[in-house]
Amino acid sequence: METKIKTLKWLTLDFSKPAHFRFLITRRVLKRYWHMFTKMVSMYKFNQIPSEAQIRKHLRRIVFGKNVYCPVCRTDEVYASQGRYRCRKCRIRFSLLSHTWLAHLRLPLSEFWLILWCWTTQIPVKQTMALTKLSEPTIRLWFDEFRSHLPHNKEVLERLVQLDEAYFGGKKGRTLFLAKEINEEKDSNKVSRKLAYSILPHANPVREEAWAFLQEYIMPNSLLHTDGASIYHGIDKWWPVEHQYDIHRKWEFELTSEVEGMFGVLRTFIRRMYHHVTVAKLPEMVGEFCFRFSHPEIFENPQYYLAICLRLVPIA
Ligand SMILES: [Zn+2]
Repeated sequence: METKIKTLKWLTLDFSKPAHFRFLITRRVLKRYWHMFTKMVSMYKFNQIPSEAQIRKHLRRIVFGKNVYCPVCRTDEVYASQGRYRCRKCRIRFSLLSHTWLAHLRLPLSEFWLILWCWTTQIPVKQTMALTKLSEPTIRLWFDEFRSHLPHNKEVLERLVQLDEAYFGGKKGRTLFLAKEINEEKDSNKVSRKLAYSILPHANPVREEAWAFLQEYIMPNSLLHTDGASIYHGIDKWWPVEHQYDIHRKWEFELTSEVEGMFGVLRTFIRRMYHHVTVAKLPEMVGEFCFRFSHPEIFENPQYYLAICLRLVPIA
């Protein structure tokens, strides 16, 4: 008897009432809404990721400034059509990114922003994979791409400089010279974030290579602190610095403690963020590390990074 009543209820659905109308939703529509819902959930979790429209606005400001202009003839007589722009003078079509290194971007902007956000805030490769559901090669390629557009950053250090070397990759590995500028007054508010580095293609550095490093990266008349390694002996005869050194055998580590600390931070950075890198990739990883240390402001969010690293490609 009860089942009969239920059946009857189904048959008497009144579609003029909204509650009854919802039964008409097809599977396809349901799928679409489910997709939108799950997307909303992920966006909700990532407050850091702006909307597609906001990202477009950021990109327009970063690439063109106040007014959009033609990337070829530079006139501002352009008009928007179908999500792109067209120049009235030279008739070319262009988009926000068509004349930048993001010209071939195939991802939705929000997805791209999320990958860049992961990279700027040092989310490890594996975590980024889980977050974006993209493959490891894809994430590594994107991280490589972001790194490759960092500006060239060559610093010449002065005043008090600590210099030390470290070895990567065993016998056939590399030598890394790293120097750090130190503030002479310990309690000074302006802490120097200047680093200089050089990577040798072998693990047996000689004096000449240490001297060459000084000539390139250390200002004459600086005060130089190193350990007692023989490659630094008499270095002040080859470049005008005042040289002081520790002897590690006697447990003296004070003079190079800061730069030795940097090596520790570098190794942790590489292991944590990239898990492993090949010896061939070491130079760019060290470059990224030094850049992050010297210019932390660029890595605060994707916008700051793009403001420095995304430019219109000059067209001859
Ligand atoms: Zn034009």
